[in-house]
Amino acid sequence: MTRTEMAKEAYMTDLTVIEPATEQVLAVLARTTGSEVESAVEAAQQAQYAWSRTSPSSKAAVLRAIADLVEERAEDLALVEARNVGMPLNDARAVVSSVAETFRYYAAGPERLTGQTIPVAGGVNMTFHEPIGVVALITPWNYPMSIASWKIAPALAAGNAVLLKPAELTPLSSIELQRIAVEAGLPEGLFSVLVGPGSTIGTQLVEHPCIGKIAFTGSTSVGVGIAARAAQTMKRTTLELGGKSASIVFADSDLRAAAEGLAGGVFGNAGQDCCARSRVFVERFAVDEFLGYLRETVAGLQVGDPLNPATQMGPLISQKQLDAVRAVVDSSPVAFQGNVPQGPGYWFPPTVLYPIDDAHPAATEEIFGPVVCILPFETEEEVIKRTNDSVYGLSGSVWTRDGARALRVARAVESGTLSINSYTSVRVSTPFGGFKQSGIGRELGPDALETYTEVKNVYYNTQE
Ligand code: NAP
Ligand code: MG
Repeated sequence: MTRTEMAKEAYMTDLTVIEPATEQVLAVLARTTGSEVESAVEAAQQAQYAWSRTSPSSKAAVLRAIADLVEERAEDLALVEARNVGMPLNDARAVVSSVAETFRYYAAGPERLTGQTIPVAGGVNMTFHEPIGVVALITPWNYPMSIASWKIAPALAAGNAVLLKPAELTPLSSIELQRIAVEAGLPEGLFSVLVGPGSTIGTQLVEHPCIGKIAFTGSTSVGVGIAARAAQTMKRTTLELGGKSASIVFADSDLRAAAEGLAGGVFGNAGQDCCARSRVFVERFAVDEFLGYLRETVAGLQVGDPLNPATQMGPLISQKQLDAVRAVVDSSPVAFQGNVPQGPGYWFPPTVLYPIDDAHPAATEEIFGPVVCILPFETEEEVIKRTNDSVYGLSGSVWTRDGARALRVARAVESGTLSINSYTSVRVSTPFGGFKQSGIGRELGPDALETYTEVKNVYYNTQE
């Protein structure tokens, strides 16, 4: 179907949003129609023209005001995210604070986007970072609000308009964020949220001739299709895709800390995290001790109501996700599992697979559930080779007390983001993104700003 045909089609059915911890209806929303998408693109073009002529300091002031208002509404926003995603409330609070941090970080952007002057024969060349124009943002359901902010803030800071299509499963925090942005003084039309499926609205955006860039986060398979389609109109793309990240645990490390780290490193957000360290390579003679600590971690994990402040792990996002995770685990060697609550909700227990072969699908494919494979290794050279034997390269950890080895191994792993003696991956002020089939481009950090610009080069003839 072409874009014009789709624009004529009305995507009129309502969208029912479900709370994964209760399976109850959380909201019913009208989906954006194809012609409303067209209107949003036109409004974005007009608003962008004015925004690109707004002074850098005025743009910065609006972005700071958004950050302030996000902080003011932090508890409401956290509640929306916790209920819609099934994310523990404490994690959702951390997400909201990182959203405010992201807007504040990129508020410095408009005044930091400087070009160069280059003396040449007969004159001088000047470079400018011009906005791309209208940018479409397509986001997944696992961290909807933070991932949206990673794209919205630099795109606006660079002078663009944005159209955000959140995942159908989790649109609520994006809608709240848009309201907050307008209340904070962002001109109408500069940031719109489009509610509907990727197959219709997503495709319409990816094919639209008036959109200059697609910033996408989601699965590798959808990302591959978007890259191919976007190439038809030579759109710029940033693609943040799937992962199968590894923790490499040497016997000289703090084994207890490495095992406890998996509470966040693979069971965080119920494993629905593109950076989940779902392969854990452990030096062979430390495996028994490590498994002992891991058993304690798993047994102690508080799985249940996301709104209970003590909860560490909530449900999966949907029945479909639950069925997919269960299918993988049913055909895998389970060493031990944690507990889950009874009753409604898409619950799956934290699960440890061992012993398991590197070639087992659970050890090669992204599971996106609270499931980890324990894989013994003998030598440094061997573990690097086995870690890199993956189509993915998003994140990972190295655990050791040997400083030289820590950095040597981190440099040898083919991943975009590594952490040493830590399971964390994302910091607003540092770049995030993948090697290999985990994506193209980087988000966050100082360089992401320029990915929302085109470099213009102007020659000034100074000859008499
Ligand atoms: P997904 O199925 O790829 O969907 C992501 C987004 O793309 C959704 O908004 C989806 O819309 C939309 N979409 C689907 N088909 C499309 C199409 N043909 N054209 C345009 N848009 C389309 O991913 P997901 O299931 O939401 O999220 C899980 C995946 O995201 C995992 O693979 C995970 O690793 C990855 N992820 C990566 C990162 C990272 O930064 N690298 C971060 C988080 C998640 P609808 O779902 O509404 O139809
Ligand atoms: Mg999906």
